[in-house]
Amino acid sequence: MFDSLQERLGSVFDKLKRRGALSEADVTAALREVRVALLEADVALPVVKDFVEKVKVEAVGQNVLKSVTPGQMVIKIVNDQLAAMLGADHVGLNLQVTPPAVIMMVGLQGSGKTTSTAKISKRLTEKERKKVLMASLDVRRPAAQEQLRVLGEQIAVRTLNIVPGEQPVAIAKRAVQTAALEGFDVVMLDTAGRLAIDEELMAEVAAVRDAAKPAETLLVADAMTGQDAVNVADTFNQKVGLTGIVMTRMDGDARGGATLSMRAVTGCPIKLMGVGEKLDELEDFHPSRVASRILGMGDIVSLVEKASENFELEEAEKLAAKIQKGKFDLNDLGSQLKQMQKMGGLSSLMNMLPGMNAGQMKKLKDAKLDDSIIKRQLAILSSMTPLEREKPEVIKAKRRTRIAGGSGTSVQEVNKLLKQHQEAARMMKKVQKMGKKGMMRGGLQ
Ligand code: GDP
Repeated sequence: MFDSLQERLGSVFDKLKRRGALSEADVTAALREVRVALLEADVALPVVKDFVEKVKVEAVGQNVLKSVTPGQMVIKIVNDQLAAMLGADHVGLNLQVTPPAVIMMVGLQGSGKTTSTAKISKRLTEKERKKVLMASLDVRRPAAQEQLRVLGEQIAVRTLNIVPGEQPVAIAKRAVQTAALEGFDVVMLDTAGRLAIDEELMAEVAAVRDAAKPAETLLVADAMTGQDAVNVADTFNQKVGLTGIVMTRMDGDARGGATLSMRAVTGCPIKLMGVGEKLDELEDFHPSRVASRILGMGDIVSLVEKASENFELEEAEKLAAKIQKGKFDLNDLGSQLKQMQKMGGLSSLMNMLPGMNAGQMKKLKDAKLDDSIIKRQLAILSSMTPLEREKPEVIKAKRRTRIAGGSGTSVQEVNKLLKQHQEAARMMKKVQKMGKKGMMRGGLQ
């Protein structure tokens, strides 16, 4: 997430950390670099000014210069202020109304509106056991209603039957009536988008709002479109009123400006974020966790949460405990590989690991740890003796040859796996150290 911003801030902070003592001039110079990094990431100028000012006040107030680890104090202050800029606390969907609760999805064409409609419906159905009805109000694009119907089939969520020629307000009314009659909890209204904001679109959305009285009006905004996304949100908020933002394409190489300015400029909370094209790639937006990810401090909480969704909680707790202790043997690597097989996609996990810079991350992504590789690695691990798995340092040349033979792989592959384990173990140590220094506080609430 926001790789280039992460890299820039990382190098500013590396410099700070390397110095024992800091002078006020050092802090001022570092903040100047932070300011440039944020502007380059396309964060709105007033937001950047306000941010730097707040960090400065905090830094002076907290006697950073006299502290034992001044560099880290500054980073912590930046982390907390970043989280504050993003909105401090996570704000969830508010569906506490007499059912059916209507969620109206608005936004420009191509922002990910229909995909997000399906993602939210899937999540409400599967995780919250809600009965959801989806309806597309996009009568301009001939295929739009059909697109939602197909997605509905994929995720086993009902869509309102399509009546050719019916207009948006009428569809919205019919959706709400159908939901009330048939006992649905939630109605998702996927409104039509446009390539740009125009009066006609605003009038249409406002008319649907008046007819359907949504509990939530969510703007879907593409993180890759920078300040444009913020301007679109601002206009929608003024014209129709928003209750929240869904930020999509957070998995791409967006610079971060849209996400970082959104709350400050519009006053609207980012409630959810899309992190991929697949229909389960939707996450709650937690400002403090996102701030920690931007500062490369990782996001252990989301990592463990994601893990626990996919394998037994017990395993997740064991892994979390191991991370805390900084201990990680080949058995742990084995269970992690098995979990990875279930969780699909290494890259989504990599973004959450602390202490990884963009370069390292890219290397790991390029390594393409796909399913067949995972299978071979598991074969290597099962050809080891229990002692070898617990104490990998005993695995010298002769044992490596035996393990390669036993698993039908090569010595190179065995070497690679052992190296990978060493890297992981080193990373766990790093996490543990960071935890001890209290640097993870932002991410561990
Ligand atoms: P709409 O015109 O606003 O309804 O946009 P769509 O929902 O049709 O999405 C446009 C494209 O963006 C599709 O190819 C989606 O798969 C893709 N998309 C939507 N959300 C995300 C996301 O969070 N990450 C990525 N990588 N792609 C997304």
